Amino acid sequence: MNDCLFCKIYRGEIPSEILYKDEHCFAIKDINPVSPVHLLVIPSVHVTYLQIFEIEDFRVLNSMYRIATELAVTNGISKSGYRLVINQKKDSGQQVPHLHLHLIGGHKLAGIG
Ligand code: 5GP
Ligand code: ZN
Repeated sequence: MNDCLFCKIYRGEIPSEILYKDEHCFAIKDINPVSPVHLLVIPSVHVTYLQIFEIEDFRVLNSMYRIATELAVTNGISKSGYRLVINQKKDSGQQVPHLHLHLIGGHKLAGIG
């Protein structure tokens, strides 16, 4: 057992509605949404960073993006558009050291380029 926030949510030790789950990942609402739709798609096993040597199975990444695009459809933002973001380490502002994909949409997003 570890003290990781997202691992605790996955184990049910911190209550959070699981919106979707497959054999690799689960999805929850972000507790502090930055847009009308702000969901997190999270690997069920603890993976901290994207570095290849920590990703035991690329099916996890495949699953994260598949779930996110499906959730974009079910949340009604697949036509209007959305952003998928993975923050990595200090300069990105990553708060939770358990890999996760943000699905953000539902209003006009500020440009990043
Ligand atoms: P990061 O900055 O690490 O990419 O994103 C972490 C996200 O997790 C943040 O957007 C933050 O609002 C969200 N978050 C932090 N604590 C909790 C929590 O207890 N429950 C949920 N659902 N989201 C959380
Ligand atoms: Zn974890």
